[in-house]
Amino acid sequence: MDWFFVLFAFLFGAAVGSFVNVCIYRLPRKLSIVKPPSHCPHCGATLSAIDLVPLLSYFWLAGKCRHCKTPISPRYFIVELITALSFVASVKRLGYTPEAILVAFSLSALLVIAFVDLEFFIVPDEAIWALGLLGFMRYLISKPQDIPIALGGALLGSFIIWVIGFLGKLIFRKEAMGFGDVKIAAAVGIHLGATWLLLPFFIFSAFIGVLIGIPIALMKSRSITGYIPFGPAMAIAAGIVFLAPPSVINFVLGLYSIPTS
Ligand SMILES: [Zn+2]
Repeated sequence: MDWFFVLFAFLFGAAVGSFVNVCIYRLPRKLSIVKPPSHCPHCGATLSAIDLVPLLSYFWLAGKCRHCKTPISPRYFIVELITALSFVASVKRLGYTPEAILVAFSLSALLVIAFVDLEFFIVPDEAIWALGLLGFMRYLISKPQDIPIALGGALLGSFIIWVIGFLGKLIFRKEAMGFGDVKIAAAVGIHLGATWLLLPFFIFSAFIGVLIGIPIALMKSRSITGYIPFGPAMAIAAGIVFLAPPSVINFVLGLYSIPTS
C-alpha cells in the first residue's frame, strides 16, 4: 500500500502548492491570501474549479487564461510540482509521522520565501513566522526539553548572518546582507537548533548562492550588478538539510573533522 500513501502525499502536496502560488503572488503585493477568490491577474476574471486543478489545469488550459488567452507563468506549474515532490520526499525521509507533515509545510514556507525574494528582494514576514512556528512544533511533539536549543539556534543563525553582513559591508563597502537574510537564518535556526547542523546549512547556502548567482549575473536584464541571491540560496540549503539523510550530514561534518553522533 506504500504507493497509495505516496500518491496521497503527492496530490495533497500539489493542492498545498496551489496555496503556495497564492502566497508567492499576494504576500509581496500586500494582498489578502484568503480573499478575493483566485482570478486572472491580467483580465480579472474569477477562476472556476476547472481552472484551479493543481498541475492539470496548466495542461488543459494550454498555459493560457481561458478568458483572455494571456499566457500563465509556468511558475504556477513548477511551484505545484516542487511542493508535491517535497511532500513525497518528507514522508519518504521521515515516514508517516507528524514530523513529516511539519517538515513538508516548512518546505512550502521556504518555497514562498525563495520565490518572493528572487523576484522582489524582500522576505515576507508571514512566511518567516510560519517557518519558525513549524520549527517550534517539531520540538514540542518530539523533544520539548530541547526548546532552549531551538531558541539558541535562532540567535546563533541570525548572529552568524549579521556578522557576515557586517564584514561584507566593511570589505565591499556595500550592503552584503539584508535584514531579510537575518530573519531567514533565525527561522531556519529554530529548526536546526544551536547544533553543528548550522555548519552544513551555511556551507550549502554559500555554494548554492554562487551557483544561482552566476546565471543571474550573466542575465544583463537584471539592472542590479553583484546581487547574490543569498535568501533563495538559504531557503534551498535549509530544504536540503531538512531532508538529507544523516550519512550526508555526517559526511560534510567529517570534512571539517567535527565528531558526529
Ligand atoms: Zn485572463
